[in-house]
Amino acid sequence: MVAADLVVYPARLVRTMDPARPTAQAIAVRGDRIRAVGSLDELASYSPARIDRRYEDSVLLPGFVEAHSHASAGAMWRATYVGYFPRPQPDGRQSAACRTVDEIVAELARAEATLRDPAEPLIAWGLDPLYFTGARLDAQVLDRVSRTRPIIVMHASLHMATVNSAAIALDRINQHTGTAGVITDAAGRPTGELQELRALALTSLYRAFGQRTTIDAGAIRSFGALARNVGATTVTDLASVDPMDDAAVAMWTSVVGDPSFPARIHQFLYAPYARPFPEAAARLVALRARPGTKLRYGGVKLILDGSIQGFTARLQEPGYLGGRANGIWNIDPQTYEEAFRTFHEAGLQIHVHCNGDEASELFITTLARVLVDAPQPGHRHTVTHSQMTTPAQYRRLAELGAGANIFSNHLWYWGDQHAERTVGIDRASRMDAAATALRCGLEISLHSDAPVTPLSPLLTAMYAATRRTPSGRVLGETERISLDGALRAVTLGGAYLLRADAEIGSLEAGKMADLAVLDTDPYEMATDPERLAEVTVRGSMVGGVDFPAGQPVPGGW
Ligand SMILES: [Zn+2]
Repeated sequence: MVAADLVVYPARLVRTMDPARPTAQAIAVRGDRIRAVGSLDELASYSPARIDRRYEDSVLLPGFVEAHSHASAGAMWRATYVGYFPRPQPDGRQSAACRTVDEIVAELARAEATLRDPAEPLIAWGLDPLYFTGARLDAQVLDRVSRTRPIIVMHASLHMATVNSAAIALDRINQHTGTAGVITDAAGRPTGELQELRALALTSLYRAFGQRTTIDAGAIRSFGALARNVGATTVTDLASVDPMDDAAVAMWTSVVGDPSFPARIHQFLYAPYARPFPEAAARLVALRARPGTKLRYGGVKLILDGSIQGFTARLQEPGYLGGRANGIWNIDPQTYEEAFRTFHEAGLQIHVHCNGDEASELFITTLARVLVDAPQPGHRHTVTHSQMTTPAQYRRLAELGAGANIFSNHLWYWGDQHAERTVGIDRASRMDAAATALRCGLEISLHSDAPVTPLSPLLTAMYAATRRTPSGRVLGETERISLDGALRAVTLGGAYLLRADAEIGSLEAGKMADLAVLDTDPYEMATDPERLAEVTVRGSMVGGVDFPAGQPVPGGW
């Protein structure tokens, strides 16, 4: 094999996230890996090297690691967006926001007018009823858009949807009012709102939404473009059944493995549908052993509860504001433990969706039981979202060798609603308790759950450091973490929680040459992390290949 050329990239500054060498002037890359980090003089000794000055005026950080996202973030653009916040698209343009019910109806009507076939459903996403006071958006409101065309509006959480009367009639949902999650009015008729998976399964429009947002090659390329635009060089597709399908594995391998694809992807198996579990575990172990470094297998995802803003998360005492009923389990505890035990014993890594603290508790008690029978040092099983995890629970997670991936974006997107409408100011101030987790000695990361909120590790770090909400309040001053802690969490922390910290997450000789290319040193904002929003991501480097931000998406859409 011919040795690849050595290329030295001088930079305005290199921030390595490696405490043994925190800053440098330049980075030397050979092939897809870092050869050395140091001063220009030091790197001159690694000759013969070519000097490449493209980053001379840029600040280089380790490529960001998004340890909880979904490839559907690249596919959602085939449905009509009606979210409350503007949102960046794969090509860098912004989708407009819908701030009132009338704006939602207008946006839906605009999309409806473009549909030719009267039977074609109108599929939208991004709605969050919590931003709207007064009457809840229901079938009657959607009937203003059309009484004949079936309409589904997926909520931002993707755990709920609202459908119109035509959709209710299409699937005779009024015959299923006894199903958990089918919301009814005083007269017992469905309102159009469907909460969590059992209720969603009743509407063919949920399946239509799934088909519309199918993750094909174009969607994966768009997902890669979203990552590139924000300097994320490793992202996750955290709940997929594709690892069980040979054709899907081949498709993913060819798209992500292509040298032009701008990210590494860790795809986690969504386990409940992968039966029987022992066969699924064996298949995943085999996939994990495949050569190649940009598409990774070996992770398993389980979902325990719903979402706090949808009141479907499982909460311990004292529960939701106003004595509202507790949330919904998405899997029964026996099946959960059977799955957890099987994949754990196979040496696979498990990330478990826990929004409420009752879900965190079930994660902890199950893990503790399983570890007695099957110790697995370095398992790094992870509570993901970890929104209500209490200090006592964080201490137990530390004892058990687990990690926490915290949903800091929630503080911005729903923080005011949590204070006023879901759990109250006291517990809202303790939500997404990154400082407590760090005080307990846990390895943490911070995430967007894209497409639930937009992918942008720099902004995610900013939310954890500021805990500022749209109304201007600081939600829990003592749970803010330092800018350094937040940036570490979205680089090395994410890498740790993916069991990939030997390869990515910091800039060290021998690791992958994965960079975030910025116009400003984010540490200049250490005393005012709010200003992280001013940092421009110029692009990324993945495995030694340069990817400028904001370019069209070749083969995307
Ligand atoms: Zn998720």
